[in-house]
Amino acid sequence: MGNNKLKAVLEQIIADFLPQKCLSCEEFSQDVLCSKCQTALIAMPLHCRTCSNPVQNFGDLCGRCLKYPPVIDFFAAKYRYGNKIRDVILAAKFAHNRRALDFLSLTIKDLAFENRADFAFLDEVFYLLPLPISRPRLQERSYNQTHYLAAELAKEQKITLVKHFLRRKHRLPQSEMESRKARKRNLRDAFYVSNAAKTELNGKNILLIDDVATTFATISEAAKCLREECSVKQIAVLTCAATVL
Ligand SMILES: [Zn+2]
Ligand SMILES: [Zn+2]
Repeated sequence: MGNNKLKAVLEQIIADFLPQKCLSCEEFSQDVLCSKCQTALIAMPLHCRTCSNPVQNFGDLCGRCLKYPPVIDFFAAKYRYGNKIRDVILAAKFAHNRRALDFLSLTIKDLAFENRADFAFLDEVFYLLPLPISRPRLQERSYNQTHYLAAELAKEQKITLVKHFLRRKHRLPQSEMESRKARKRNLRDAFYVSNAAKTELNGKNILLIDDVATTFATISEAAKCLREECSVKQIAVLTCAATVL
């Protein structure tokens, strides 16, 4: 067990003995978010079938996706990205907070359930892939919170989870890029598929899981890589939260 992981486990043991607090406002609360903060969570508005742009009717494509056909075939998020859900995501990401991880994994399961009827190929998904982080980043954090969310959904839906098919090269964090252009350049060829996985993924339906979609640039780049390197059939993406464009 690495030092980071050991530290996280010890912190969790200590946390279990302390009174639980809301992860956002720090008021005492048995739940991840106190009732006040839970009410402040914003549900995702009716949005485009392949991105988070608002649309009039369920299942529509937005003007942008009609004009520039997207690389993914289906997108759904549970919450609009805002302060409250961000606090939960950050606690899961950097503090390995088990309550936050469980909350997010329930969120993804709910989302998959809610979209099952309108997203027929969820029944035909062959592989479930968590959006990867680079190896140095993984060593730094000792785990990828998205693995956890994907693994829980895979267990429930009985879909095969593959953690290492899609990989990510080490780059500077997108948040450190100053311009949109620099962010785009930084992401170019950031993903690759392991050689062994190429034939495996060929012609299959894929479900990608991530905690949050802020710009869609990362998701699009990952999907582009899956299409180009192994011509997968269809790609669906589920995230806990998304920025409404
Ligand atoms: Zn609160
Ligand atoms: Zn769209």
